[in-house]
Amino acid sequence: MRHGAMRCLSILGATGSIGKNTLRVAAQFSDRFSVKALTAKNNIVELAEQIVGFQPDIAAVYGKIEAENLKKRLPAGIKTEIVYGPDGYHAAAVHPSADTVVSAMVGAAGLTPTLAAIDAGKHIALANKETLVMAGDLVMTKAKAQGVSILPVDSEHSAIFQCLAGNRARDLHKILLTASGGPFRNRLLSDFSAITPEEALAHPTWAMGKKISIDSATMMNKGLEVIEAMHLFGVAHHRIEVVIHPQSIVHSMVAFCDGSVMAQLGVPDMRTAIACALSWPERLPLNLPVPDFAAIGALAFERPDMEKFPCLKLAYRACETGGTMPCVLNGANEAAVDAFLDNRISFVQIPEVIEYTINNHDVIKDPDIFAIMKADQWARQTAGDWIIHQG
Ligand code: MG
Repeated sequence: MRHGAMRCLSILGATGSIGKNTLRVAAQFSDRFSVKALTAKNNIVELAEQIVGFQPDIAAVYGKIEAENLKKRLPAGIKTEIVYGPDGYHAAAVHPSADTVVSAMVGAAGLTPTLAAIDAGKHIALANKETLVMAGDLVMTKAKAQGVSILPVDSEHSAIFQCLAGNRARDLHKILLTASGGPFRNRLLSDFSAITPEEALAHPTWAMGKKISIDSATMMNKGLEVIEAMHLFGVAHHRIEVVIHPQSIVHSMVAFCDGSVMAQLGVPDMRTAIACALSWPERLPLNLPVPDFAAIGALAFERPDMEKFPCLKLAYRACETGGTMPCVLNGANEAAVDAFLDNRISFVQIPEVIEYTINNHDVIKDPDIFAIMKADQWARQTAGDWIIHQG
């Protein structure tokens, strides 16, 4: 990207936490960013306000009803084309007026439009970690072939990316992926079965959507991030170590072969990672506060407790197996998180659903997109059956 060039954005998942923060950055630097496409699932009220504010060329929603409701909310004179369904999301992902796609949809739904965007030669700012968890090899190979960049929006991966900048990949010894530990780090394992969705949704340091908040509480989020890091940085899973850091000030670290460790620090605000992904190697003056280290006093680190958080262990197991297994891990996790949020299973049953599903999967090595989609469907079906019978 040329210095100072206008970046034209398509934002997939515009009404989520990442989408809204991306629009804050775009509004703060309106001379740098132009918003060309927006998508949402069914948050029509928020999307309508965004359309009025940014006047994109195109906006996509989940279905026909959402599209009709959205059109009714828009004032006369708005020229944004309103589309819906898989074709609508595809149109927003490949829209010719955008050069960069911010992939911030929730869950597996992000994969197909992100792949379409890569095929269309768009640069990707990636927040949807499921894309790499499900189809990391495929996505990275395609991106390389198309000559497009995939820059991470996840705070940990942005930190790793920033720490690696200017260093040789072969000098990397290991990645230290930090984790807040979620809301149940200090709770006794014997009390875990009583955890409610409301408690699990209250994350101590980051304000996020429902799916990722539950994933943080089970630490599956960190497991998915290990897989994401493997693909983004081409590092084997045994070189990625999770370190609990409750203050979320160190966003991750990288250790080099000479014993030197680089860390990226900052207040927990997603705009830093978003701005980095959209303006690298420039840094935008976001005017965020520097952490008040004297007030914080001490930064703490500890090892993750794999007995309390078996999801993390299951994620490492899925990495080791490879092939369609990470995709199955992800599909089973999404089914389990939905069931937990609906009070159909308990918190401790989330890893049980996933373990049952991965134990019963016949792995396919080097899967193509069809094998990946099939494995995802199989995982949801298998997890769903377990939930009906055991939940
Ligand atoms: Mg993260």
